[in-house]
Amino acid sequence: MSTKRDYYEVLEVSRTASDGEISAAYRKLAIKYHPDRNPGDDEAIERFKECAQAFEVLSDSDKRARYDRHGHAGVEGPGGGAAQFTDINDIFEAFGGIFGDLFGGGGRAGGRRVRRGSDVQCQVTLDLVEAARGVNHKVRFARHARCEQCEGSGAAPGSSPVTCDYCGGAGQVLRASGILRLQTTCPSCHGEGKITKDPCRGCRGQGYVPREVTREVQIPAGIDDGMRVRLPGEGEPSPNGGPPGDCYCFIHVKDHPLFERDGQHLILRMPITYSQAALGATLEIPTLNGPANLTVHAGTQPGEVFTLRGKGLADPRRSGVGNLLVQVNIEVPKTFDAEQENLLRQLSELEHTAVTPHRKNFFEKVGDFFTTQHDEAPSGAGAED
Ligand SMILES: [Zn+2]
Ligand SMILES: [Zn+2]
Repeated sequence: MSTKRDYYEVLEVSRTASDGEISAAYRKLAIKYHPDRNPGDDEAIERFKECAQAFEVLSDSDKRARYDRHGHAGVEGPGGGAAQFTDINDIFEAFGGIFGDLFGGGGRAGGRRVRRGSDVQCQVTLDLVEAARGVNHKVRFARHARCEQCEGSGAAPGSSPVTCDYCGGAGQVLRASGILRLQTTCPSCHGEGKITKDPCRGCRGQGYVPREVTREVQIPAGIDDGMRVRLPGEGEPSPNGGPPGDCYCFIHVKDHPLFERDGQHLILRMPITYSQAALGATLEIPTLNGPANLTVHAGTQPGEVFTLRGKGLADPRRSGVGNLLVQVNIEVPKTFDAEQENLLRQLSELEHTAVTPHRKNFFEKVGDFFTTQHDEAPSGAGAED
């Protein structure tokens, strides 16, 4: 298999090119064929890999000598193989230093990779009315804060961290793996570049201590169970000077005794009497913003659904408000007085069907709902007509 192009040709340099010329050529081509600049271009990615392989060989004097003598065969196969980059990320791993320089050094500080702090989380439980209107809610959660005793250095007062001997303070070491040299985090200082010999007692050398914080989180109207609200920058601090993580506030919305939720829509199961269904009626029904009128037509059937537009919930991520779907349930009373019984007997040719008798319960729930409901003005997009 000698379909491989000559490495000097790949890097567009002469066979007598100096190390500096090879590096310069590689940098130029790596930018030209960089996947970020050629999204979806498979050929560019192949060229990018090809350049990385060529550079991997020609930048190493031993391998370059073997390549000059034996061609591809000299650097392929077990014990002598050029790196076979199958994953583009391997290239970034292997030549991380070069790319760090090439691409503006973003995410690096003093040659070390800065890490973002971890995310933390907290929980908030709301009732449906709060979720519908949106609320500001206090949350408490634990995260770490800079130790005041050592001002975050981790070293006991009066001492200071010393440069790591193992990596000379770089935080990274070159590790030979086969013929591939990988830059990895220093195992001695874990990438910090410094070692704390006399750790601070307040934080056991961590530089950070656990803290409980209280924050107010703005929960948007219409939030649903299982959604989360991000508090940017309220997570753990970065271990080495990077940005802090975020706090994610997970929302739990309690079930409501009257309304069932279906995304932005609300479902209300409403009992009506046989005569209301048969003759038609205007009913007062509960909504999240107070009572509203619903007219059911004569001949309303059990299970029929009436839609009250805009009486559902806002969508916290988009505009628009859901609907209230009222499903009527025709209820047969369990007890009735003599007059009702008399009238019913006059209707005795009509067929009776059993319906769950929970009308009294329902109206008790309506009563409870209206007496305990928050009485502030409705808010949130489209919450009112
Ligand atoms: Zn400390
Ligand atoms: Zn080190």
